[in-house]
Amino acid sequence: MDKNFQEEFKPVIKFEPPLYKQRHQFVKDLVEKYKPKKVADLGCADCSLLWMLKFCSCIEVLAGLDICANVMKEKMHTLSPLPVDYLQPSERSLTVTLHHGSVAHKDPCMLGFDLVTCIELIEHLEESELKKFPEVVFGFMAPSIVVISTPNSEFNPLFPRVMLYRHPDHKFEWSQAQFQSWALETARCYGYSVEFTGVGHPPTGMEKVGFCTQIGVFFRKSPQTGESVQSEKPTEAVYKTVFKAVYPSLKDGKYLQNAVISEVIFTAQIIKHRLMSKREESGDDPERKSKFQHSVDSFSDCLGKLVVEKHMEPFVSGNEVYIPLSTIFSFPKVNRLCGTFEKLCKLIAGKVTLSSDGSAVMFNIEHENEEN
Ligand code: SAH
Repeated sequence: MDKNFQEEFKPVIKFEPPLYKQRHQFVKDLVEKYKPKKVADLGCADCSLLWMLKFCSCIEVLAGLDICANVMKEKMHTLSPLPVDYLQPSERSLTVTLHHGSVAHKDPCMLGFDLVTCIELIEHLEESELKKFPEVVFGFMAPSIVVISTPNSEFNPLFPRVMLYRHPDHKFEWSQAQFQSWALETARCYGYSVEFTGVGHPPTGMEKVGFCTQIGVFFRKSPQTGESVQSEKPTEAVYKTVFKAVYPSLKDGKYLQNAVISEVIFTAQIIKHRLMSKREESGDDPERKSKFQHSVDSFSDCLGKLVVEKHMEPFVSGNEVYIPLSTIFSFPKVNRLCGTFEKLCKLIAGKVTLSSDGSAVMFNIEHENEEN
């Protein structure tokens, strides 16, 4: 038969979105559902899953492990904080670390994780490594959830070019029954339950072959506290840390103070600007003044959806404008950043010019008047 003709009529399976993206999205959905704080990706390769996960706001610790340092290093810079992260520090803390090592070895840096992901990893393990893998991941690391994905060999006949395995580095590819029996036995041994699913649907009429990528989601049956795990498992460090990034966070006092000072000055400036323009509009006419007072009130209401309802009003005295701290504190963003009025006072002490009794932010408008 003509070769071109043959090629043309071979079924072509193309996934949209591509299968690797579907696998990563599966993990992201799981993170959004269970909200783990600490996530480790084993066999993280070029860190693309880690990069996607750094945007999940529940995660505070992200770690990657791979036996190939070079593949990790290729794109590890994408895990570093960006200038915008420093300009607007996040409320959560985030540390990202990459380790060079093997899943066949235990290292204490892998303790205390809530979720461990092993995406297309196990089929790359030598027989001896695969034997040690369950004890390292389920016995030693013992996270609440483990996700393992691996190719489903029953799907392979649908790929025209796959001869034995989908990738030259694969040491094996399992059928659904083989994966499920390994997963069920591992779960039984280490006190986990397992649910099977997958990504990459088979074509209509061929549902029996199952998903192209088979996935097992393991849930630890008994609760375990992070501290007891670490103290009971003394082990020597064997992995080499090749990357570490600590993201700026408002949990860090220095970033919180900067954010509060900027927000207080910004809020006070807006109130002052509004106050001055209303004063100019109203002149000395008492009727107009009362209208002005009303508009300052409604301005505050609509701008800030104030948290504290009753507060002192801003006022002008001579060349000084006073914006009460209680007014500033009633603005939601300042309120959320500081939590308490006392904390607000403490954080801006010595950093913002205040009235002599410390109750208001003070601006001198002498030079502003000259400019006008
Ligand atoms: N998880 C990635 C890619 C998986 S490819 C993704 O979702 O796209 C398999 C990766 O496992 C490779 O980067 C390989 O270097 C790594 N690997 C193979 N054997 C390993 C071992 N024993 N320990 C840790 N990583 C290993």
